Amino acid sequence: MPGVVLWFRRDLRLADNRALERALLLADGGPVHAFFCASPALLATSPMRSGYLGAALGGLDRSLLGRLGLAHGDPASEVAAFANRAGAEVVVATREFTPLARRRDERAAALLGGAGIKLELGDSPYLLPPGKLARAAGGWHRVFTPFYRRLSEHGFDAPRPAPEADALEAALAEPVLRDARALGVLGLPELFDRHRFGATEEEALAQLAAFAERAGEYPSGRNLPAAESTSRLSPALRFGLLHPRQVAAALSGLPGGDEAIRQLVWRDFFAQTLASEPRSAWENLDPRFDRMAHDDPSASPVRERLETWKQGRTGFPLVDAGMRELANTGWMHNRARMVVASFLVKDLHIDWRVGARHFMENLLDGDLASNNHSWQWVAGSGTDAAPYFRVFNPVLQAKKFDPEGSYIRAHLPELAHLPTRFVHEPWEAKRLGMLEPDAYPEPIVDHAREREEALRRFGEISGKSEAGEAGQPA
Ligand SMILES: Cc1cc2nc3c(=O)[nH]c(=O)nc-3n(C[C@H](O)[C@H](O)[C@H](O)COP(=O)(O)OP(=O)(O)OC[C@H]3O[C@@H](n4cnc5c(N)ncnc54)[C@H](O)[C@@H]3O)c2cc1C
Repeated sequence: MPGVVLWFRRDLRLADNRALERALLLADGGPVHAFFCASPALLATSPMRSGYLGAALGGLDRSLLGRLGLAHGDPASEVAAFANRAGAEVVVATREFTPLARRRDERAAALLGGAGIKLELGDSPYLLPPGKLARAAGGWHRVFTPFYRRLSEHGFDAPRPAPEADALEAALAEPVLRDARALGVLGLPELFDRHRFGATEEEALAQLAAFAERAGEYPSGRNLPAAESTSRLSPALRFGLLHPRQVAAALSGLPGGDEAIRQLVWRDFFAQTLASEPRSAWENLDPRFDRMAHDDPSASPVRERLETWKQGRTGFPLVDAGMRELANTGWMHNRARMVVASFLVKDLHIDWRVGARHFMENLLDGDLASNNHSWQWVAGSGTDAAPYFRVFNPVLQAKKFDPEGSYIRAHLPELAHLPTRFVHEPWEAKRLGMLEPDAYPEPIVDHAREREEALRRFGEISGKSEAGEAGQPA
């Protein structure tokens, strides 16, 4: 009986996996060949994220009774070779929407088609497939709130359970390929904290259940990096250990649940933006920003400043705490992400793409749509962007969102002993002899001056002086 290949990509789970359901249905009692291809390009981009992928694949393989077919190389050619070897007539997969994924799937469809095998794509990693919610006036949504309203009115499917274990066991074929190089991915070092970031479907479900219990804290705590009130589900969502339908269903009706679901919808919003404007992955959505003057990050002193930003040694405690959280854990709290991104773009005058690339290399949840469009949101060049003239003051942000300095202390041990007001302004502690001069760097720039410079540059591209509109420092 000809079989079906189930090609896993960013849906590494059994529950609410519509591609898995479809494969079982199409196989109709025949064999289902589970398959994943480890792409060397992906593995090279981010060691920490690759370690997470290895753990996630290990979990999936165990759930599939050790019958996950594994290849290593170019995914389009490898899936075609695997399906041929398995004697399959159909390959089933969850549809993806990034420019790279679309090109991969077009090539896979052509290679498979040449061998008489069909590639069937369905569902999506989002609450609704990008493009589903066009505006009444036509075209895609450029503003979040109306998109959120439309999505809430439209609704989305309820999640469905994993297939029965017996049915799965009966259908799953022994793998026709387990490439030793791909098996190596399963044994990649886990550089991340498994306790904080569940890396299997089971762990992610437990993390979701624990978050649902404390969702009531989310509205008041979600902006406070030290409160640890957010779900930390972003890596699990990135790799599809959970589908957002499961997250929304678990939170629906709970105190704080609506606010968390609203944040989840940003993920859909950025995905529809990228799917509608693929060029916006690495280009300014607002073309005015193409004329923005940036400092050259390969030339001194900008090069050295960029390096201090990456290492968390800018002399601004909240910026440094965020960047060290990223370097040490592969994750950063959303408030800190906004502050460090604003600092790179508006205090150091470096193009958002430099920061977005660094994030993609280091984040466990690194996702082209959410990452690059969040960067554009901060830079002012993207969808529903923060106005360019709203420049975050890193000291005021720290006082407002980390009032006790707990987040800063957790990530900057050299400041941990200082009383709270000096944690936010360590230069004062130095002045009073409470901190050794070289225990922590001096601020690498004068924020007030760089803010004026950022507004001046924005004035050049917008054709008007925005400084007058600057209002209260954020
Ligand atoms: C400069 C910058 C870069 C970012 N890069 C990424 C990225 O590469 N991948 C990524 O998943 N998120 C990114 N975000 C969005 C956000 O910071 C993270 O999704 C969030 O911090 C993840 O933590 P959490 O799971 O505890 O979120 P929660 O607050 O618990 O939210 C639940 C889920 O909703 C989604 N979500 C929440 N906020 C956002 C948002 N603003 N945009 C998109 N989705 C959101 C995430 O999937 C998240 O897991 C970025 C934000 C900024 C400012």
